[in-house]
Parts: sequence; structure tokens; C-alpha cells
Amino acid sequence: MEKIRNCLLDADKIRTAGEIIRAGGLVAFPTETVYGLGADALNGCAVKKIYEAKGRPSDNPLIVHIARFSDLEEIAAKLPPSAKCLSDAFWPGPLTMIVEKSEKVPYETTGGMDTVAVRMPSHPTALALIRESGGFVAAPSANASGRPSPTLAEHVADDLCGRIPMILDGGQVGIGLESTIVDLTEEVPMILRPGYITQEMLEEVIGEVRVDPGILADAGMQRPKAPGMKYKHYAPRADLVLVDGEETHVVEKINELTRRAGMTGRRAAVIGTDETCSRYRANVVVSIGARSDEEAIARHLYKILRDFDEMEIDVIYSESFATPKIGQAIMNRLLKAAGYQVIHV
Ligand code: AMP
Ligand code: MG
Repeated sequence: MEKIRNCLLDADKIRTAGEIIRAGGLVAFPTETVYGLGADALNGCAVKKIYEAKGRPSDNPLIVHIARFSDLEEIAAKLPPSAKCLSDAFWPGPLTMIVEKSEKVPYETTGGMDTVAVRMPSHPTALALIRESGGFVAAPSANASGRPSPTLAEHVADDLCGRIPMILDGGQVGIGLESTIVDLTEEVPMILRPGYITQEMLEEVIGEVRVDPGILADAGMQRPKAPGMKYKHYAPRADLVLVDGEETHVVEKINELTRRAGMTGRRAAVIGTDETCSRYRANVVVSIGARSDEEAIARHLYKILRDFDEMEIDVIYSESFATPKIGQAIMNRLLKAAGYQVIHV
């Protein structure tokens, strides 16, 4: 497997990667959200290899990445006016739109659905690779299914080493959480996965937007609309428990829980913030960032979960992070990773 670091300006490397994808192969590449595992979205056989490499259930559709708006018109059967408004406002960027698919898109890419998810990423390497690959790159996150999404090329190598021919290494990604998904085939557009682009930001551009009720509550109560959101996607190996409430109470509760874990011989770790970390007494305490810096919290989350996996931690206690903007996205990923175990204090 060839791993190429910081190839932003290296047109040759990107051209080679594009040739691999055109020939029906797979390449992992950086985007501004997380690393993606790309294949030619219009080639059903190539797309099948993504599912095999990741161990991804075949009913879980892929996002098609494009590099120019006119390519959306080719893979969509019809486009609502909101698609143009949203693309003018947020593309290239961390927003995925779901529209009716045209015949060009094979069912392997859409997991058998008549709709297709489309995004134009802003990362220059991703855009250059899409152009070199023929314009349509199906790319889910480049992790093994069930592991946290990769925010570093090393994470991709940890999960997929030996299963894919090439990783383009662009260093740490900027956002660290997957794109916002908005379904434009609904009468009122609906957010199927929260992300960096919030409900308020979308509503400023296209008016009323709803949030899929299936992603907010315990997933057991209502089925999410995006097939992928029903899986326990972001699962660390350790048991993860969130503790929510007023800061002093949260610190006290987590100290009590880690002390009890220690008494039963379980290795406990704590996810705190710059403000609280010095008050925890567990052996392993990690700050996710300053509570006021929600972008840092989003960027660090998956790496922390992966690091804890390597340290063979048995149980993780985390503060909750319902911050003003990206908070809904952060909490959606954390709650799923925790299997919805929350202690309110
Ligand atoms: P990933 O690329 O791994 O971040 O996952 C893509 C997400 O988009 C999954 O949760 C999919 O279920 C969802 N998705 C992709 N295409 C569609 C579609 N046509 N309708 C609903 N959800 C979709
Ligand atoms: Mg994924």
C-alpha cells in the first residue's frame, strides 16, 4: 500500500490516484470533514469494493462527491430550486443533499434507493482527485465499519491497511465530524444527520427545515431515515457513559464512577474540558478542548475515542457537549457511541 503525505501540491500523485479510481480501484483521501474511501460512483463493480473493504452493510448508501454544480444535474433526475440555493450558499463545503437519482447512478451506490446523496467537498486534494477520477467519486468515511471515522491518515491505515492500494495523506482534517445531510425529496427539507452546517444556517437560505426525529431520541424509539444512522456507527471498544448536568455535579459524579470502576478492576478514562480536567482523579484524563471552542471539541472527538481503544480502556466517562452550534452534531455522535447511556446529575 502506498501512503503519500501532504500531496496537496503534488499533481502527479493525485493523477495516479485518479487513474486507480478510473480503473475501478479504491483510494482513501482527505476531505474537510473526515477521510473518505473513494471509488468511481458510476461503476457498480468498483463501488462494491468499498463495501467489502469497510465491511459495510450493502443497504447503507454512499455519498457521491462532485467538483462542479453541473455534475449534480447529471446524476439527479430532477432538482428542486432549493438545491441551487443551498449549493450557492454552502458548496464547496460540509453539506450533503439528497435528491432523486438519474439512471446514471447504479443501485450499488445508493444501496438500492431511488435517491442519491451528493456533496461537493472544499478540501483542495479532494476536489483535484474528483476531477482526475472522472467527476463522480462515491466515498463513505474511510474507517472499518463500526469504528470512529478517521480524522488522520494513520487512522485509515490502522483500519484498512492491506485492503486498499493507496492513501493520500493530507494531515489532520479541519472539521472532524461527517457532513450535514439534508433530504430535499421531502416536502419540507429534513436533516437526516446533523453536522457543521446547522438547521439555522439552512433555514436562513431556504426557509423551514425539519430534523429527522429518529436521530434525536434514543434510536430504539423511532427509526432514522438515513439507513446508516441506524447502525451503532461510532462505537469505541470501551463502554462509554455520558454524564450531563451542572459542572460541579458532573465532576463529582465522574470522580465517584471512576473510583468505583477502579475498585472492580476496570480501567477507566475521562473525557473532560480544559476547564475541568485538573479536578478529575482518574489515572487517564483527556481534555477535548476548551468548552467555549466547539470546533476544537468536534475536531478532537474521534481521535480521543480511537486513542482510548489503543490504551485498552474498559470504561469511558465523558462530559456532555450540547454546545450552541455544532453541539447537536457532537452529541448525536457521542450518544450513538455511548449506546445512549446518559446519567443526569
Ligand atoms: P458516510 O459516507 O459513511 O458518512 O455515510 C453516509 C450517510 O449518508 C449514511 O448514514 C447513509 O445512510 C446516508 N445516505 C446516503 N445516501 C442516502 C440516501 N439516498 N437516502 C438517505 N440516506 C442516505
Ligand atoms: Mg461513515
